[in-house]
Amino acid sequence: MDILVASRNPGKVAELKKLLGHLAVNVLSLDDFDGIPEVIEDGDTYEANVLKKARAVYEATGQIVLADDSGLEVDALRGLPGVRSARFGGEGLTDYERSMKLLDDIKEIPEEERGATFQCRLAIVGPGGLEKVVSGSCRGSIIQEPRGGSGFGYDPIFLPSEYNHTFAELSPEIKNRISHRGRALEKAALFLDGYIYSQMQK
Ligand code: IMP
Repeated sequence: MDILVASRNPGKVAELKKLLGHLAVNVLSLDDFDGIPEVIEDGDTYEANVLKKARAVYEATGQIVLADDSGLEVDALRGLPGVRSARFGGEGLTDYERSMKLLDDIKEIPEEERGATFQCRLAIVGPGGLEKVVSGSCRGSIIQEPRGGSGFGYDPIFLPSEYNHTFAELSPEIKNRISHRGRALEKAALFLDGYIYSQMQK
């Protein structure tokens, strides 16, 4: 069975391939298809965005699609940047500049009030009305200065509760195990396992 991951980010596709590796699926990416329309993620919720993306790619390709949307919710900013995480501070900023802006916005906030949660939603959309959304989250806090050189986005300023290292200081294996995306993927893999089994019974 083919599963099309609705992403052109090679890092994300590789991560998803690894996490779905034990299933009897062949993982494809958007780079395997021509002419798929760009989907604007302008919904107010992760669910709205992820379903919009997955449905559009399914309609364009007829493949079973796995799409993701994620964001960082900072308590002191009442949940911002949230669904706007990729555009926080304006278009055209680098990941580093966005992180520095976030640090600046909360510079007066004391350590015990710097809690934050990474959120992820994954949607699976396919033939016969197949639609499933699963979620994963990772609780932690925002440190004062960026630390670590791996990962992407807000990784250098996010300290997950279970470790004294930022996401950017942890190995990809550990990050994938505890991250919002890793946790959502575990649920998606379980769902797909059941789905594949049910298809084989037909
Ligand atoms: P996306 O729309 O799911 O690609 O993610 C939205 C934004 O959230 C990204 O551009 C990142 O800034 C941030 N983000 C999502 N997941 C992570 C992560 O695992 N680490 C750091 N930043 C992340």
